[in-house]
Amino acid sequence: MTVRLSEELHRRLDAAAEQAMPLEACGLLLGQKIVGSFIVEDCILAENVTTEDPATSFEVDPQTYIQVQRDVRAGGSQIIGVWHSHPTTDAIVSETDKRLSRECGWLWLISSLVYRASEGRVKLQAFVAGDEDSRDFKQVEIEF
Ligand SMILES: [Zn+2]
Repeated sequence: MTVRLSEELHRRLDAAAEQAMPLEACGLLLGQKIVGSFIVEDCILAENVTTEDPATSFEVDPQTYIQVQRDVRAGGSQIIGVWHSHPTTDAIVSETDKRLSRECGWLWLISSLVYRASEGRVKLQAFVAGDEDSRDFKQVEIEF
């Protein structure tokens, strides 16, 4: 399984993650899931409406979710997953993320701002939620 996204989208995610600091940013990933790969075409940024601590958890605004679902029905893209940022921790699936993961087979892109100072760039990593168990994540490679 691999993930493909454009450099332009990658930069937009970096910027959105920076802008939301010190809170987590989030959005819905649009694109196509084909055999062996996810092709990420866009990310629709959403308000983080978590009722927990927004510095360490997120929830995509349900209104945005409904709106995006409506919009994609007409076009060729689908909601293939979710993106969010970790302001102070690594770009890996947290225990909170696992607890709140509901959708089997979704792609999760996570941006970490921790390494920004040393590497000059936001770190982006990808994971896929299990087809049977949405809390069973596997890391997948990103091809830029
Ligand atoms: Zn997280």
